[in-house]
Amino acid sequence: MTLDIQLAGRIDQQSLFHPFTAITDLKADGPTVISSGKGVRITDIHGQEYLDGMAGLWCVNLGYGREEITEAMAEQSRKLSFFHAFNGMSIDVTIECAEALLKRAPVPMARVFFGASGSDANETQAKLVWYYNQLRGKPEKKKLICRWNSYHGSGVLTASMTGLPGMHAPFLLPMGPIVHTDAPYYYRKAPEGMSEREFSRHLARELEALIAREGADTIGAFFAEAVMGAGGLIPPPEGYFEEIVPILRANDILLVMDEVVSGYGRLGTYWGSQTYGLEPDLITSAKGVTSGYFPMSACFISPKVWDVIESNAERAGLFGHGYTYSAHPVGAAAALAALRLIDEDNVLANVQEQSDHLFSSLRARLGDHWAVGDIRGKGLMIGVELVKDRATKEAFPMANRTGRQVLKAAAKRSLITRALGDTLVFAPPLVINRAEVDELVEKFGDAVEAVLPR
Ligand code: PMP
Repeated sequence: MTLDIQLAGRIDQQSLFHPFTAITDLKADGPTVISSGKGVRITDIHGQEYLDGMAGLWCVNLGYGREEITEAMAEQSRKLSFFHAFNGMSIDVTIECAEALLKRAPVPMARVFFGASGSDANETQAKLVWYYNQLRGKPEKKKLICRWNSYHGSGVLTASMTGLPGMHAPFLLPMGPIVHTDAPYYYRKAPEGMSEREFSRHLARELEALIAREGADTIGAFFAEAVMGAGGLIPPPEGYFEEIVPILRANDILLVMDEVVSGYGRLGTYWGSQTYGLEPDLITSAKGVTSGYFPMSACFISPKVWDVIESNAERAGLFGHGYTYSAHPVGAAAALAALRLIDEDNVLANVQEQSDHLFSSLRARLGDHWAVGDIRGKGLMIGVELVKDRATKEAFPMANRTGRQVLKAAAKRSLITRALGDTLVFAPPLVINRAEVDELVEKFGDAVEAVLPR
């Protein structure tokens, strides 16, 4: 490597346009330049080590530097570095990967469609919803119901589906047949005194009203993350999906589960759909499928949708959708190695154990802190919402940027977290051990108390 360590920050600022970064923050603080990783830790260019409480972007589920994955990728890259699956071509390792994925699906699935990112996968799903409805003679069933606070991607359509106004306004979005319904954000959105169950029923009634208003014959699908991630780390309140799903079924609306974060073990089950007892018609996955070692996504297509596609194949002709990397052999090799490690490392059992430990340790360390409003999540997907007043849930003034202050205080203590407003989030590698959880909680507790003294 020829990069001058001392100049790296300056060269970064002169060359790199950073995703999801405020240019003013970058100018003020400079970038943190990471150069290596091992296990749950990453090291910056100056040799400073950090405990990565976010597994990169909730993706490095098996930890950094896993030889089993890098070797599989290197070997595949030497053997066949690229080919594709257009026009009836295929690749041995990609076939093997598709079969391995179908075997692990939460409910019987008929086909897998590959891509390179969660965003492109959700684009694929939206187009499949339209394709399916068109083929079965209901082309007007096009609208996609998505939820406020959801995150489904950064493309024009997927950013539109995403329920975060900050991703809409600067780009004149949303665009396309998208309607948003309320987020199941119990802590902030439930009326005073309402139980979780009642709130779920309330949201179901809102959804019913929305469907009646729009017309069920205009609605194709409902998209949902199992636990909402980037929009504030929001787990569904008790009974939420039990209330929602029958309404979708009654109105002939497909259920698309966006398992880009929750797939491959993050919630302590292989799939978030299993955590919540769901039988989706389509499942979007990415990130953990290769543990972040290769950009890859996998869309799962249920027999219900596939049967319509297959039985109309002659009439439909060419399926006019696909990406250059819709079957990448190196990605497939990475995925096969990662899937094997999820089984061999007993990842699911570890997530359950460390999740319990992380929740109870966070509550013990910070549960009585005056600014800790809510500690919530599922599995190893946990958020801590900080508030100015616990009794009234009044938020800190936005201008204080309290979440960011805590994030920086944590980084000073060599812990990486993520601030979604004033909700600090943890989604560490799923192979984190008990001592590392203790270290995470200790450092985070110190960071919170440094910014918000008791
Ligand atoms: N869906 C969800 C639930 C996500 O969290 C993300 C990314 N964090 C995406 C889709 C988009 O994935 P990508 O950034 O790989 O396009």
